[in-house]
Amino acid sequence: MGLLDAKLSGENVLVTSVDNVLNWARLSSLWPMGFGLACCAIEMMATNASNYDLERFGIFPRSSPRQSDLMIVAGTVTMKMAERVIRLYEQMPEPRYVLSMGSCSNCGGPYWNHGYHVLKGVDRVIPVDVYVPGCPPRPEALIGGLMKIQELIRMEGIGLSREEALRKLEEAPVDPGIYIEREHRKATAS
Ligand code: SF4
Repeated sequence: MGLLDAKLSGENVLVTSVDNVLNWARLSSLWPMGFGLACCAIEMMATNASNYDLERFGIFPRSSPRQSDLMIVAGTVTMKMAERVIRLYEQMPEPRYVLSMGSCSNCGGPYWNHGYHVLKGVDRVIPVDVYVPGCPPRPEALIGGLMKIQELIRMEGIGLSREEALRKLEEAPVDPGIYIEREHRKATAS
C-alpha cells in the first residue's frame, strides 16, 4: 500500500479504453440472483459465507432477478421448476450470464436414467455460459466458474459480441473441469 500511495500521491493521468473501464466495473460487481434448487445450493451458500468470502470479488447475491446479472443454477431442475427458471431468467436485464452448478443442472445428474421428472440439463431451456461439474461441486470449483464468467466479461466490448468473446475464451487455456458452453449460445443467438 505504501508503494501504491507513493505512486499515486501526486496528480496522475490513467489512459485506458472505455471497454476496459466498463468491463472492469461489470466484472467487479457481479450480482448473482439468490436462489437455489437443491443440495448444490448449500455449497453455493457456503461459498458466500465467511470462509470463502465472495464479496472480495465484488460478488453479492441479490434477492430480485431485476437487479441481478448472473443466475447460478444450483441444484436439480425438475420439469415443474423449469418454467419458474425461465420466468426468472426472462426478468433479468441484459447483459446477463448463467452458470450451471453441479451434475443435476448440467445434465440431469443422478436422475439421468430414471428421473422422468427432471430436466436433462438446464441448457435445454435457457442458454448457459459456464458449467461447473461435480455432485456437488466444492466452493473452490464454483469460484473457478465465477472467474470464468469474469474472464468472459473482460473479453466483451463495444465492438465485440458475446459470441466473439466466447470464441476468444475458447481459444484461451481452460481450467480442467470447467467447460465453456458456446454452441448453445450460438444456437440461441441465431
Ligand atoms: S448435483 Fe448432486 S449435490 Fe447437486 S443437486 Fe444434484 S444430487 Fe444434489
